Amino acid sequence: MSAKVLILGGGSGGLVTANSLHHIFKNKSVKPEITLIDKNQYHEFMPSYPWVALGYRDPDEIRRPLSLLEKKGIRYVNAVIKSINPNKREVETTEGVFEYDFLVVSLGAELNPDAIEHYKEEAHHPWSMKGALNLRRALKDFKGGHILIGVQGMYYRCPPAPFEIAGQLDFMLRAKGIRDNTDITIFHLTPGPLSNMGPAISTVIAEILNNKGVKFVGNFEFERISPQEKKVYAKDGRSLPYDLLIMPPAHKPNSVVANSPLSNGKDFPVVDPETFRHIKYSNVFIIGDVVNPAVNLPPAGVVAHFQAEFVANQIAVEVIGGYVGESFTPVAMCIMDFGDDAVLPMCEFTKVYKDLSGPPTCGVLGRGKEIRLVKEAFEAMWFANYLTK
Ligand SMILES: Cc1cc2nc3c(=O)[nH]c(=O)nc-3n(C[C@H](O)[C@H](O)[C@H](O)COP(=O)(O)OP(=O)(O)OC[C@H]3O[C@@H](n4cnc5c(N)ncnc54)[C@H](O)[C@@H]3O)c2cc1C
Repeated sequence: MSAKVLILGGGSGGLVTANSLHHIFKNKSVKPEITLIDKNQYHEFMPSYPWVALGYRDPDEIRRPLSLLEKKGIRYVNAVIKSINPNKREVETTEGVFEYDFLVVSLGAELNPDAIEHYKEEAHHPWSMKGALNLRRALKDFKGGHILIGVQGMYYRCPPAPFEIAGQLDFMLRAKGIRDNTDITIFHLTPGPLSNMGPAISTVIAEILNNKGVKFVGNFEFERISPQEKKVYAKDGRSLPYDLLIMPPAHKPNSVVANSPLSNGKDFPVVDPETFRHIKYSNVFIIGDVVNPAVNLPPAGVVAHFQAEFVANQIAVEVIGGYVGESFTPVAMCIMDFGDDAVLPMCEFTKVYKDLSGPPTCGVLGRGKEIRLVKEAFEAMWFANYLTK
């Protein structure tokens, strides 16, 4: 009987796991049964959400139906996952109970817009498709004033995204001819822009923001939004005004995983960082945003991607025997598009994630407008490789 591989989540980690397994087993005589479950019918390419907000992309240009996986012999089930029972090797969903031999959990983080008072009425964000489309409407009506971009904590998808969004807005508002009567300010917990990634990256981002007249306010520990005053307050009493407020919603660990024996009442499950196997249930692999903060890795698609390939290799070793391929590469890259400028930073997290000492070792692989094309090429390659029409 062939091994049953069940993948929970059709985001970055789940999609790459399914495709990597398909690729490994394509020409093998032994093949596992691969099933992927997601509550969404579409996989969305999140790095392009800001482009949707700016009107550069429409939703259908950055998403594909997950049912396209069926063309590769991967079963896709559109269902809400209700519970995970690793003791019985079962997952309960709205479409029934699924058994597995190997489980890959890549259920991501959850957005929690209710966590901050007045957030839902006052703030916009391109951290979801709906949020990106709401921001697009707000930008269409925006005639100038204070644009305030900031974060309420450190756990949010894609740490560089707020800086990218500020740069893209500067570019767009200049094109619209209303940049002179608009100021753009970023507030963040770190002392400098991306200073937690070390000076090589921070210096370049600070220079770009400076060239664009974007103000950075550091060490700003978010406290509250005051809708009457149209201001955001920090815990130390400082305040910043806004006409348009852009903030990622609070993120929280995935509730299905948090409520399962995998997490045992804690926020995050405990995995072996060498393999991403659950410490107690060795046939359960957990990758991506649902676990990465607990192993000192950033919530980024590229990390989930490398984890997914590594996990697929480990499953293949058990199914067919043999060689594990490459070990996991703890590296994150982000193509930062600032409209008329762009940067490709890369960070290596070995120190942070193995020795628990930071910061990561970072550098800038490229800078210039042409890097923007790399982002477009990557978006096209993503769909061509993983959800081919
Ligand atoms: C604006 C923005 C820009 C970004 N830019 C970059 C970038 O340039 N580079 C980069 O590396 N990363 C970037 N990211 C981050 C990246 O997209 C995420 O880190 C990545 O998608 C995480 O992958 P994941 O598989 O862990 O989770 P996700 O991609 O979030 O996938 C989780 C999946 O699980 C499903 N799910 C969750 N709960 C359930 C349930 N109960 N039942 C059924 N299905 C469920 C969800 O529907 C979802 O499809 C960006 C993110 C944003 C928002």
